[in-house]
Amino acid sequence: MTNPAGYLLFTEEVPRTDGRTCKVTRRCRLCGNDGSAYVRFVDFEKFVAGDNYVQNLFPYLSADERELLAHGFCGACFDASCPPDDDEAEGES
Ligand SMILES: [Zn+2]
Repeated sequence: MTNPAGYLLFTEEVPRTDGRTCKVTRRCRLCGNDGSAYVRFVDFEKFVAGDNYVQNLFPYLSADERELLAHGFCGACFDASCPPDDDEAEGES
């Protein structure tokens, strides 16, 4: 099965009061550090199903967290690879 979950290291369900009970961990492709984000399970299911519009799926995550889940770069590596003029811009032309 080829889907985004294939490169997510680990998911677990955690008790949280804000509904973001799905913990997703992914390893940065550049530095190898693991990063985690807490998302709603329904949103994670959409992501696994191939919806890669993480800005829409996970509006409650920080830009760094979304970048990690979507592309596998931690905040530090993403900042190093892109000019820090606009956090929210996709920057892919
Ligand atoms: Zn990194």
